[in-house]
Amino acid sequence: MNIDLLTKCECNCVFCDKQTVKGVESINELKDILEDFNESIIFLGGQEPFNFKDLDLLIAFLKNKAPDSKIIIKSSGCFDYKKLPRVLFEKIEIIELPLYSCSSEIHNKIMGNNQAWELLFAFVDFLKENNLQNKILFHTMVLKDNFKELFAIYDFVLDNLPDQQYFKIIYPLKNISKIEYEKIIVPQDLVIKQLFADFPEDILQNKIELINFQPSKEQIKFRNVL
Ligand code: SF4
Repeated sequence: MNIDLLTKCECNCVFCDKQTVKGVESINELKDILEDFNESIIFLGGQEPFNFKDLDLLIAFLKNKAPDSKIIIKSSGCFDYKKLPRVLFEKIEIIELPLYSCSSEIHNKIMGNNQAWELLFAFVDFLKENNLQNKILFHTMVLKDNFKELFAIYDFVLDNLPDQQYFKIIYPLKNISKIEYEKIIVPQDLVIKQLFADFPEDILQNKIELINFQPSKEQIKFRNVL
């Protein structure tokens, strides 16, 4: 089950299409959906879910209705974790966070927020200090600005979170655009094929989840940023 929560998002990612996301602004709008709720996995996404004003109520409700359910939050990492109680983070099984570069400048540029890196790692440090680091799942996305450092991003994540179970790489649909690679323009799908071929087979199979990011509405955005 996927619930999109419409909230204030402090970022402006180059690929984001948040204007078209349909979702809810309060828990009241979820009453009908939640009445017969009995799901084992719930994804909370949308914009910045940790800014959702009824998040504690929603999580308490979900856990009450289906105590064995797993909650996965897709966050930007750009929010003030100090405003939320520690116990809230304990109730979430996975906190998915973006890492688009090993460089704070590039990460911030992709996210359109010059505080993004600082906020992200303040939150990561908080989770580590509270022994909640095993809830973190980092993902990255293949973009023109970062495709050369996918390995480095993967290594960076492992250095920071040696116990991370797996790492997600989101890549755009085939043939969507072309990418400049050492001054040669190469079709995007060839670049992606090569990038993934360079990863050792055992890492690719056991540690990395590849996600093809393809909802049609996002394709136009990708054409512009790749
Ligand atoms: S974090 Fe980025 S992708 Fe997510 S809603 Fe905000 S601007 Fe869009």
